[in-house]
Amino acid sequence: MADFQTPEIREYPLIPHIKPGAMAHSKPYLAKPDHQASVGFPGELVENWHDVAVAKLGELVSKSRALQVFLDICVKCGACTDKCHYYLGTEDPNNMPVARQDLLRGVYRRHFTFAGKYFPKLVGAIDFTEEVRDQWYSYFHQCSQCRRCSVFCPYGIDTAEISMAGREVLDAIGVGQKYCNEILGKVHKVGNNLGLPGPALIDTLEGLEEDVKEDTGVDVRFPVNQKGAEVLLITPSADFFAEPHIDGLIGYGKVFHQAGISWTVSSYASEAANFSMFIGSHDNLKRTAMRIREAALELGVKRIVVGECGHAWRVAYSFWNTLIGPFDFLDPKYPAPQHICELTYDLLKRGALKIDKEANDHRRITFHDSCNVARASRMGNMPGGQFIIPREILKTVANNFFDMAPETIHENTFCCGGGGGLLTDDLMELRVKGAMPRMQALKQVVDDNDVNTLVAICAICKTQFAKTLPYYKHSMNMITSLHHVVGDAIVLGGKD
Ligand code: SF4
Ligand code: SF4
Repeated sequence: MADFQTPEIREYPLIPHIKPGAMAHSKPYLAKPDHQASVGFPGELVENWHDVAVAKLGELVSKSRALQVFLDICVKCGACTDKCHYYLGTEDPNNMPVARQDLLRGVYRRHFTFAGKYFPKLVGAIDFTEEVRDQWYSYFHQCSQCRRCSVFCPYGIDTAEISMAGREVLDAIGVGQKYCNEILGKVHKVGNNLGLPGPALIDTLEGLEEDVKEDTGVDVRFPVNQKGAEVLLITPSADFFAEPHIDGLIGYGKVFHQAGISWTVSSYASEAANFSMFIGSHDNLKRTAMRIREAALELGVKRIVVGECGHAWRVAYSFWNTLIGPFDFLDPKYPAPQHICELTYDLLKRGALKIDKEANDHRRITFHDSCNVARASRMGNMPGGQFIIPREILKTVANNFFDMAPETIHENTFCCGGGGGLLTDDLMELRVKGAMPRMQALKQVVDDNDVNTLVAICAICKTQFAKTLPYYKHSMNMITSLHHVVGDAIVLGGKD
């Protein structure tokens, strides 16, 4: 049983209280020396950690103009203070975005500004002491890098970038976070977050083919390493084994089957997730993504389609081109990369899939916009496509759709509470409390419209909700994949 209290659901607007130090104890487990080594960081706290940290911060600031500007231009207007779900859920003032930034800004000022060097007290400059290092470890792991605060900042200051920098400095001195760094090591070694080797993946997907055949009577294939397939599907490895993710994978399989598109997954690059972004590590970001380029070339595919994963779509949409491009070996007819929702939307619009909407009549659906899709990428060739396309798909395959309150969706969406490398059981208190603003909006739409299904297109959101919904008196089965809903409506064998 949890040894913390689930926050009370309150009416909007949420007026936060202040409880200084309420979450100072919250820290993820430290990475072990071998986790650190596998991603290229010192195994444990280095002896001259202060100097190494200051040097690393200097390097980051000199390389990123954006980071320096974010550190220089805050006018302390306060517009961001009540916009973070972790502040609203924990009431710890260090979880106000501006306070989180100041943890790093103070050290930056002390070492890299004239006033901070000579008149530190006047400008809030602070030394990087053991206590400050401890606060960094705690509070930079209480930011899911969701970027909600940046939407409300008149200068667009992006706290996510500052958290990433803070974590990168900590990694450089040997104070890494176990969850992210251990997982990244597995991707480098085996090709996916789970450490699922190729034969086990093949076995799993063969079993899935049998299950779908038993269920539908149709031979829907889930191919692995199929050379010459048109599509390489890059999807979060959670899709291969866990509910509600696997129902989404079955949905993708039905879409490909029904549209007659040959596809495959790769056992070498069987992971869409790229946790390197969460720790701000460019080297690991590139190394992880490079497997995908290599697999696409090896298999000779014409297009790369990305499954339901929020941060993976951000990495693919915003960074792949510079990390692992150019994609001149793919078919220029298709976006590179393409989101599975773009592919399904296009097929639905062209009438290429026969749909039985009534198959979803038992569902009253709402949609959670995942942060990295909503605020850090796009979909389709229209402004706001990342909001329009998933909703249009849902309205095409189901009769009952209801949006949550407008101040909590689209670019204003609240994080699920488990993003940014925080989806680990050692941060359960933070995850439950951080989920509160989304749970508040969900309660409203449940009360008003009898909603019983929460749909998301992010593996982290799905896992986080499955775990946190029961804390707020909802069934964990309420959360599901968008392509689960799609898959249930597809009439296999039928064409419009
Ligand atoms: S990026 Fe998200 S989690 Fe981080 S401070 Fe801003 S609102 Fe909070
Ligand atoms: S909204 Fe922007 S400028 Fe205002 S306090 Fe927050 S970070 Fe600083």
